[in-house]
Amino acid sequence: MTAFDPDSIRPALAANFIGGEAVVGRGRSFEVLRPSDGQLLGELRAADEQQLCAAVENAAMAQKASGWGAMEPRGRMKLLRRWADLIEADAETLVPLEAVGSSRTLAEVRAWDLPYTAECIRFFAEFADKHGGEIAATTPDKLGFTLTEPYGVIGAIAPWNLPLVMAAWKLGPALAAGNAVVLKPSELTPFSVVRLAELAVAAGIPAGVFNVVQGGGGDIGDALVRHERIAKVSFTGSTRTGQAIMAACAMTGPKPSTLELGGKSPQIVFADADLAKASALVARAITLNSGQVCVAGSRLLVHEKARDEVVERLTTAFEAHRLGTTWDAATTMGPIISEGQLATIDGIVQRARAAGAEAVTGGARAVSPQSGSYYQPTLLAGMSDDNEAVQGEIFGPVLTVQSFADEDEAFALANGTRYGLAAGVHTTDISRALRAVRALEAGTVWVNRYGRSDDFILPTGGFKQSGVGKDLGREAYLGSCKVKTALIQI
Ligand code: NAD
Repeated sequence: MTAFDPDSIRPALAANFIGGEAVVGRGRSFEVLRPSDGQLLGELRAADEQQLCAAVENAAMAQKASGWGAMEPRGRMKLLRRWADLIEADAETLVPLEAVGSSRTLAEVRAWDLPYTAECIRFFAEFADKHGGEIAATTPDKLGFTLTEPYGVIGAIAPWNLPLVMAAWKLGPALAAGNAVVLKPSELTPFSVVRLAELAVAAGIPAGVFNVVQGGGGDIGDALVRHERIAKVSFTGSTRTGQAIMAACAMTGPKPSTLELGGKSPQIVFADADLAKASALVARAITLNSGQVCVAGSRLLVHEKARDEVVERLTTAFEAHRLGTTWDAATTMGPIISEGQLATIDGIVQRARAAGAEAVTGGARAVSPQSGSYYQPTLLAGMSDDNEAVQGEIFGPVLTVQSFADEDEAFALANGTRYGLAAGVHTTDISRALRAVRALEAGTVWVNRYGRSDDFILPTGGFKQSGVGKDLGREAYLGSCKVKTALIQI
């Protein structure tokens, strides 16, 4: 087998997609680097304000004029399903484009990200003709009902950690409900979603229904949110940016926003758990995508009797990882997305160590022959509960360990941050598991597993500072609709 050549991936300069065509941006230029080796992947030309306005106007026109919003729902369903089929069939182009430009390995994108993206769109396609509204039980002289209607144009803003998957979470429900979308991907991972847009047109989805604008968050992202024809914003990213977006939505609308934000998710291991299995799940939940996952299980809370065994197992699992490029088949953990993100991770780790924390394993950047951005899987012990490594999102492969004496203490520690995205519970006691599901302040609680499967019907979204609203599930579809009430006197 010949080795994969990352230089064979050269994204086109025309990376904005407006009104059904790929166009070169007239705004700022960005150098987009390959996180695996720091080499130039391609130049990105951002949209300027005029192009952004053109994208929004095109979207508004397509949503109305081409009838996307008014189309028979089953017509939309068929086009979205055809699009999903084309996405799946495009693996040869999409898989390397995604993997070379992000922290996802070729193997992961091929086996998971790409099929998941297609399946997510299929799932929402099937919603298109199944949610028309409610009919009220009233008296014979009245008829009361609700209608779900698309908002019009939804502005979607995505992060860099899983570029295709995060785009699908936004696009699936919004398009199925009859909206048009203008999507701004992260400036660190801008290219793969452009291919999604090309495939949408190839599938017969009217030009202008799905547009991509490129650029920085503070300029193009902010201008997109504030545009008067953007009726709703769907955002995934950090809590700080989410707060800024909600404020901008308030001042330019008010318009609604769905915010999927940061997390600091606890993993609680009780002494009655199968410790080998629990340790494997905990290790995977913080090393998957090098910890660059919103629901990364980044705080281990382990019963004091199980602590030593779990820490030993985790150390072994962490040290067995092989860090490398996303295109090396031997890689088990890929790079950190950028030097900036790596510096953030390392800053938190070094400050925790200076404050007395012990790095049981890891604790520094990994020196790599590929000169990319790599961080050692790190286990930090011995810090106080108010340390920023325990309280703040790190978004890297860093796990803090704290122990507890009883269930109440475990739940109090678990709930003791400003976040509430997800939590993991490892126990063989069903009553305890059910108590945990009730007690934990988190949008998702996993018991004896960690992470999603293809369960698109289950919504995802955070409590507290982890967000407002839901992606996936019926909630995401209904969140893409306005609800109108009619009451008719007969
Ligand atoms: P980020 O907030 O820095 O950026 C996210 C996106 O917002 C980017 O496209 C960026 O350009 C844009 N942006 C930045 N400032 C903006 C502004 N003022 N107005 C409009 N857009 C703006 O986040 P990131 O570093 O790209 O992603 C990592 C974060 O995303 C982590 O906090 C992670 O937890 C979160 N995340 C959450 C989920 C979830 O489902 N809850 C999923 C994935 C990632």
